[in-house]
Amino acid sequence: MDTYMEIRAAGDNAQAALYAAQTAVCTLAEQLSVTDPQSEIAAVNRANGKPTALSEDTAALLRAGLHMGALTDGALNLAIYPLTRAWGFTTGSYAIPSNEMIAALRPLTDPANITLDGSTVTLADGMMLDTGAVAKGYAGDRAIEILRKYDISSAILSLGGNILTLGTKPDGSDWVVGITDPFAPDRELCSVHVRDRAVVTSGDYERYFIADDGTRYCHILDPATGAPAQNGLSSVTVIGAQGLLCDALSTALFVMGKDRAVRFWREKQSECACPFEMILVTSDDKLLCTEGIAEVLTITRDIPLEVIRRAEER
Ligand code: ADP
Ligand code: MG
Repeated sequence: MDTYMEIRAAGDNAQAALYAAQTAVCTLAEQLSVTDPQSEIAAVNRANGKPTALSEDTAALLRAGLHMGALTDGALNLAIYPLTRAWGFTTGSYAIPSNEMIAALRPLTDPANITLDGSTVTLADGMMLDTGAVAKGYAGDRAIEILRKYDISSAILSLGGNILTLGTKPDGSDWVVGITDPFAPDRELCSVHVRDRAVVTSGDYERYFIADDGTRYCHILDPATGAPAQNGLSSVTVIGAQGLLCDALSTALFVMGKDRAVRFWREKQSECACPFEMILVTSDDKLLCTEGIAEVLTITRDIPLEVIRRAEER
């Protein structure tokens, strides 16, 4: 998954539990890698229109990803790979594709041309999957599930910006999860007190390149344009009980921009796997958070805060 993993657990079985959780995450990372030719995703991506059998995990992840894609009106799109590849985000050889090239690749990213039948997937010829937007969230959930099986009641897991907490700290107090300042990524902008929650951030500071004209292009693409998302947000943090949902939404809400994200939070909660709260940092340096997280939010530097209420204030 091109990142670091850190898991801490407390309890009698902690050593064995950590080992089992780590093994599960590494196995998933191998299955889901888009660049490793041995992976399941690579097999799907070279199937040229033929059906491919998936493992249970990959099929479950894909099913959830397709559901979230539909729910977010295509803001999350696991078939985006032909475009991310053209922009060089997978290889690091960044390039700005021509409008003609983007127009030619966009039809190859239409999720309507993905058929998932049980655990068999068929993509239209030329299409390719990239589960990068949801894989860490899913893997985190599996790791937490394993820790629970080992009777661990206190753990924290970090998978490259995705934090998952199990229970409380060993002393019974809440976990405190810091949220990166997108304008100074080595610093913290705010923190939240949580227990049994995933805290997942997508931001434009994580992976990006700066073109000759000074424009910054980030690794999250807007499927509607085929170009890096530039909808007024610098980072989106989603907090909820399920890592997968939070990971899917952090990417999708980043693509949507502030107004659509707020509307989604107000209107679509019931269609999501679990309720969620969100923290948005706008490109003009304002902080917004939903009301369910406001009481447990601590702001670290001077920045205006707006609390988003469930019902729109008139
Ligand atoms: P990170 O991996 O930095 O934590 P995300 O969870 O937001 O961030 O995932 C971003 C990754 O998802 C990109 O690197 C790319 O592989 C893929 N991706 C980019 N745009 C989209 C999109 N609109 N829908 C689905 N996947 C995307
Ligand atoms: Mg994500």
